[in-house]
Amino acid sequence: MENVVIIGSGCAGWTAALYTARANLQPLLLTGHQPGGLLTTTSIVENFPGFPEGVDGFELMTRMQKQAERFGAKSQFGLVEAVDFSGKPFVLTVDGEKVEAETVIIATGASHKHLGVPGEELLETKGVTYCATCDGALPLFRNQPLVVVGGGDSACEEALYLTRFGSTVHLVHRRDSLRASKIMADRTLANPKIKPVWDSAVTEIVDVKQDRVTGVKLKNLKTDVESTLPCAGVFIAIGHGPNTEIFKGQIETDPNGFIIPRRGTMTNVPGVFVAGDCADHIYRQAITAAGAGCAAAIDAERFLSAANH
Ligand code: NAP
Repeated sequence: MENVVIIGSGCAGWTAALYTARANLQPLLLTGHQPGGLLTTTSIVENFPGFPEGVDGFELMTRMQKQAERFGAKSQFGLVEAVDFSGKPFVLTVDGEKVEAETVIIATGASHKHLGVPGEELLETKGVTYCATCDGALPLFRNQPLVVVGGGDSACEEALYLTRFGSTVHLVHRRDSLRASKIMADRTLANPKIKPVWDSAVTEIVDVKQDRVTGVKLKNLKTDVESTLPCAGVFIAIGHGPNTEIFKGQIETDPNGFIIPRRGTMTNVPGVFVAGDCADHIYRQAITAAGAGCAAAIDAERFLSAANH
């Protein structure tokens, strides 16, 4: 039986692994299908303390992993399919295999939200994407008009990154001001290659018949005027939803699926702790996720010491 199983390999997961490893608990971290988590889909992280020049998201996660492994953290590539927190030990099903744990730290993070408009699903990987750093450099986007949907920090970051490749980047936002932090908003609106399209919703992505993106249909939400904007790629950056499906019915969540921590990082099940974006719809930063991972590790360690005395 494992002392501590950590589900998720983002900032929260690897920080929890580092702290529980240093407490000599030999934690087992289960990576999930996206090792390194959402930060690996970003380019330069400029606001993680300790990196005055910024740090590549993938590199930051690789460093966190190495640091935790140096102190004895184990990791296993795999997806947790089901959990049973009804008795002790806790039982997790990972790619068909059972893993038993005395404590569990849930750090499953969040995933990109979808627009839910016609054409989005059918044209995914054919011009519709959720990650500029992953796909922006593809030949099909070079010197072509591109569309980014959203008005937050992610949308700004995607739009700025895409100015390296596209001829023009249209930033389509449903309101007339950005939600992004001031520094990102200013930088975005000052870029001559980025053209904001305010008060507009994407109602459809075309052209499914041609099996590739040729444009988006837009509706101005103030005037109801409809139009088509030609583009070769649509980058959707409208926020994230928590990855908490597998805990349904066992771990208390709010109506949007975010896990509700009780005292500190404790959940409604004693011995199961939570950290990071799967429980945080307010701050959602790499550094706050890392901080929560540290707190969950300390809570788990104290729980184990109390249980074993
Ligand atoms: P976010 O802040 O929740 O912004 C989502 C954006 O998408 C909002 O502008 C929202 O519009 C829009 N939106 C949501 N649902 C939509 C829909 N169905 N159709 C059209 N538009 C929709 O998400 P985020 O930008 O991914 O950022 C998440 C967190 O990560 C934030 O805390 C952010 O600060 C952080 N982050 C930071 C950085 C950085 O510091 N460099 C980079 C990336 C992310 P409304 O504005 O109208 O609600």
